[in-house]
Amino acid sequence: MNEKIPVGILGATGMVGQNYVSLLENHPWFEVTFLAASEHSAGQEYASAIKKRWRMPGKPPEAVGKLPVFNVKDTASAQKKCRLVFSAFSMSKNETLQLEREYAAAGMAVISNNSAHRLKDNVPIIMPEVNPELLEIIPGQQQKEGWNKGFIVTKPNCGVQSYVLPVAALKKSGLKIDQIITTNLQALSGAGYPGQSALDVLDNLIPLPSEEEKAFNEPQKIFGKLEGDRIVSDQNLKISSNCVRVPVIDGHSSCVWFSVQGAQPEIAEIEDIFRNFRGVPQEQNLPSAPQPVLRYTRDPSHPQPRLDRNAGNGMAVTIGRLQKAPVLGYRFTALSHNTLRGAAGGAILTAELLVSRGYVA
Ligand code: NAP
Repeated sequence: MNEKIPVGILGATGMVGQNYVSLLENHPWFEVTFLAASEHSAGQEYASAIKKRWRMPGKPPEAVGKLPVFNVKDTASAQKKCRLVFSAFSMSKNETLQLEREYAAAGMAVISNNSAHRLKDNVPIIMPEVNPELLEIIPGQQQKEGWNKGFIVTKPNCGVQSYVLPVAALKKSGLKIDQIITTNLQALSGAGYPGQSALDVLDNLIPLPSEEEKAFNEPQKIFGKLEGDRIVSDQNLKISSNCVRVPVIDGHSSCVWFSVQGAQPEIAEIEDIFRNFRGVPQEQNLPSAPQPVLRYTRDPSHPQPRLDRNAGNGMAVTIGRLQKAPVLGYRFTALSHNTLRGAAGGAILTAELLVSRGYVA
């Protein structure tokens, strides 16, 4: 690629936004040219807007630090400066729906970290290793919405990433997975900065009922099929999840039980499925694709958030504790980095997939 594609970050001052800034430094295909946040940050240079709240290692990249921060509502300025936006601002659902649509209507590709659009039947939830074919809905979405070049795709909730990738590997191998039970142990950074009060979370576990619905209806849509101009969820996949905020800084873990219809595979077969799984990003060697995407270990003391969350630059899922179980048949534990694979990194990989398939010129 001769010229880099100009991209914007909406919510650039936040936890996820800072991860975008960090990950996009020296990206071979993308250059950050537009930053936006709330009216409180708008009008300042980025370095000054995040002065006391930069949470990434090292300093913010110098060139990005000098960029002005715009108000996220200023789609006209974004239109002049970029072709694709990563959306990670915090607003109400209705405001988010409206604003992301304004960006798409203004001709920009929108890759959203927000949940607002995820369950719209003409907006895909993309996990590049799992369902790249759902990008084929984009022309239909543009036609239906009257958008010329712009469109909206979303990435899933950070809590589902840890188990959807291993389940995708099992399903792709031909195993018929019908029931899944998960306990999702979700890290503090999933709540943004400053997030949960230390007095609430230390020495404690906090139920996250608002995440539990996403934990089953998003995977059903991720594994769904394109039918005409809409995506139909896979209602046959039954998932029940208990989501809990735990005193871990980064890295969401999932303890997973699952059942397989028909012949019951041996553990060694499942190990091979995990070890050999490759998706389109690995086959095409996309810049942010971890090689491999699933890191399987037999070491019974893994996965651990502190030791395993940065596997594959925070883009791989570490799987361990695989064994047969008296309930549902099988169990494993999986871990992924929630602000990297689960947020900014996963969205950047989606952007790379969009470029590789010609959706972003
Ligand atoms: P955060 O740290 O609280 O950052 C929020 C961002 O939104 C900041 O840039 C903030 O700008 C901006 N913002 C806040 N109120 C606004 C308003 N009224 N109008 C315009 N901009 C506003 O949150 P986060 O963790 O980065 O999460 C951002 C989004 O990504 C959320 O929808 C979240 O659910 C989603 N997400 C987060 C994670 C994660 O692991 N953290 C993972 C997946 C998805 P100012 O700095 O100017 O206030």
